[in-house]
Amino acid sequence: MKPLVVITGASSGFGAEIAKQFNADGFPMLLLGRRTDKIEALAKDFDNVMIESVDVTDYAQFETAIRKAEAKYGKTDLLVNNAGLMLLGNVQNQSPAEWQTMLNTNVMGVLNGTQIVLNDMREREHGTILNMSSLAGKKTFVNHAAYVASKFGVHGLSETVREESAAKNVRVMMVAPGAAETELLTHVTSDSALTDYNAWKETMGGLTLDPKHVAETVKFMYDMPQEVNIREVDIAATKQD
Ligand code: NDP
Repeated sequence: MKPLVVITGASSGFGAEIAKQFNADGFPMLLLGRRTDKIEALAKDFDNVMIESVDVTDYAQFETAIRKAEAKYGKTDLLVNNAGLMLLGNVQNQSPAEWQTMLNTNVMGVLNGTQIVLNDMREREHGTILNMSSLAGKKTFVNHAAYVASKFGVHGLSETVREESAAKNVRVMMVAPGAAETELLTHVTSDSALTDYNAWKETMGGLTLDPKHVAETVKFMYDMPQEVNIREVDIAATKQD
């Protein structure tokens, strides 16, 4: 049997598309998210899949789910830290509670997942952690201060873990996508930030990235031999500035 792939945020958007790619290639998977009904609908025809309700900010819950899947399918060979949240707003009036939730999910969630699988990967000298960052992890966008902070954090921590574990043959990868229309924007509470986003989207003819292309990219990166690490891919709609 192929090795275990763990995907966080599999209930929608990029995570759901990534799950489809790995299922099509016969990988056993642990699919995580808080809305398991959505994952169950996605995976109803998948073979070798375990679905667990996990909030990535809850270390104990996250670890229990991974150990349960590993007892059935063997050690995790790929963890896709994809779960994330984007709450837009400017610093002068966005709620600090939104910053907290976003930083917890986008940064603590990635750190939690990384620690849960990293020791085994280092010991086995085999394994891959792929973190879903964003172009907002490399450049700034108005109304995105806290989100940008979280994704610059993902870039920084990913590259640090890569350097620390390179000698142990562990790959740490990042994908930095541009705008894609998933459920991400549905959580935004700022009307003016949404208006600004929609105006910006028109500058690229309203055409954003298809999540399927992000999923294909993830699969391509993982499929390289273990001794090859595609450290980072930036992928965006051609017309995005
Ligand atoms: P979606 O909102 O469609 O998906 C987000 C996923 O994250 C959902 O499955 C959600 O599941 C999960 N999630 C959110 N919070 C938690 C949590 N606390 N614990 C567990 N799971 C959680 O958005 P995308 O698919 O677009 O986003 C996926 C990743 O891609 C994110 O990291 C995002 O920042 C990044 N990204 C997205 C871009 C875009 O334009 N769409 C561009 C660049 C990066 P549930 O609610 O069921 O828990």
